[in-house]
Amino acid sequence: MTFDAFKDLLPDVTDLNAPYWEGLAVGELRIQQCNACDARQHPSESFCYNCGSQDITWHPVNGNGEIYSFIKVHQLYHAAFKDHLPYIVVIIQLNEGPRILGAMFGLNAEPKIGARVRAAFQNIDDESAFLLFELAG
Ligand SMILES: [Zn+2]
Repeated sequence: MTFDAFKDLLPDVTDLNAPYWEGLAVGELRIQQCNACDARQHPSESFCYNCGSQDITWHPVNGNGEIYSFIKVHQLYHAAFKDHLPYIVVIIQLNEGPRILGAMFGLNAEPKIGARVRAAFQNIDDESAFLLFELAG
C-alpha cells in the first residue's frame, strides 16, 4: 500500500509547526508546553493558550489517549484516501493534556467513544509522516 499521495496534503512547514512535523517523521508526537504555567497545548501557537506567556518549549508525549469524538468518512474527498475508505477521523483526548486530531484506518467496525488508543506514525517518505491512531490493547 502506498502513501505517496498523502504528500500533497501536508501543510507548509513553518517555524511554528516544524517541531510537530519533524517529530512525526521520526515516530515521535511532540506538543508545546508552557514554562510559566506548565499547560500543554495543541495545535501550536506562539503563546500559551492558558496564560499568554511566550515562554513555550516542545516536548515529546507518548501519544496514548482515548477517543473523544469521531466521524466515519465514506466519501472520497482526495485520491490519497482511495485505498482507505471508509476511514475514521478522530479527536483524541491525550493522557498528557490536549485533544488532537488524527485518523484511524482499517477498522472493521466503528470505534467506541472512550476507547483507548495509541499514536501510530505513517511515513510518507524519509522526511515526512502523518499521525494515525490505533486501538490499544
Ligand atoms: Zn501558560
